[in-house]
Amino acid sequence: MNQPGEQTVQERRRADSTGAGGSESGQRHRGESGLNLKPSGRTSGAAAAALEERTAAQAAGQTVGQTSVEDPVFSCRDVNVYYGAKHALKNVTIDVARKQVLAMIGPSGCGKSTFLRCLNRMNDTIPGARVTGSITLDGLDIHDKRQDVVQIRARVGMVFQKPNPFPKSIYDNVAYGPRIHGLARGRADLDEIVCTSLQRAGLWDEVKDRLTGPGTGLSGGQQQRLCIARTIAVQPEVILMDEPCSALDPIATARIEDLIDELRASYAIVIVTHSMQQAARVSQRTAYFHMGDLIEVGETDRVFTNPRHRLTEDYITGRFG
Ligand code: ADP
Repeated sequence: MNQPGEQTVQERRRADSTGAGGSESGQRHRGESGLNLKPSGRTSGAAAAALEERTAAQAAGQTVGQTSVEDPVFSCRDVNVYYGAKHALKNVTIDVARKQVLAMIGPSGCGKSTFLRCLNRMNDTIPGARVTGSITLDGLDIHDKRQDVVQIRARVGMVFQKPNPFPKSIYDNVAYGPRIHGLARGRADLDEIVCTSLQRAGLWDEVKDRLTGPGTGLSGGQQQRLCIARTIAVQPEVILMDEPCSALDPIATARIEDLIDELRASYAIVIVTHSMQQAARVSQRTAYFHMGDLIEVGETDRVFTNPRHRLTEDYITGRFG
């Protein structure tokens, strides 16, 4: 839900297309990325303090910005991931807030998907992958031997780049998780879960008359919403999304972005996106990764209008590479 005075995703999208920025638009220039950015010359006391912070953090190789939040759903401390000898993620420390969207941006190969996969132990499935450091979900270590990885993946659902419905009916796609986790008390209960999940995923009206038809028969955008319905059906706390719109056209993308905005009223969402415009539209916090390091994290509006690390600034102004 949007806070009073906060823009909706639709309003942000309209502002993107008309070039009208936020409250400081008069002082900003448009970077090559098309985003509104502040001129880099900083004169205020706050700017000087930011510069000092940036210089000190950069010298120490630390993440710039606010890595921790109050009452996080996930708390990650000094997380490292190795693929054999490759050190893909380095000492990443960050919290994930409840009922908020955290966007992860950065150049290809910087470790965004690797970090995302840490959160529901998907890296366990990659031969040779090794994860160190601490990741707690609601205060419990997800790597603790007593933790059931199947349960973790139900609590932390994942939506992939390419929609991947099961070769089953629309109904059975959504019913699959509740069935294997024993969440429904009978057929009527299961029907209710399927209906509610499809409604929350914004798909019910389009599929209610064809629930027995194949999930793979839907359009790409509908398939992705079906995958979101399937994720929601097991009542997760967190939804991970790995570039969920990259295979979709602009209209289907807009529907998913609107849906993300609605879903954050109920879930924490962590999204990897290559689109900075998308990150700016849908997220409240943004994390910038570079070559396995978490360079900067903070409120999305602040990161995009006043990046504190040179590498973040270079990336979002299009100077990177
Ligand atoms: P991003 O999502 O930012 O594009 P990734 O997390 O996919 O980056 O990759 C981070 C680094 O780890 C890259 O150098 C990539 O080549 C490497 N990597 C990713 N997955 C594997 C894997 N399964 N085996 C070996 N190396 C991998």
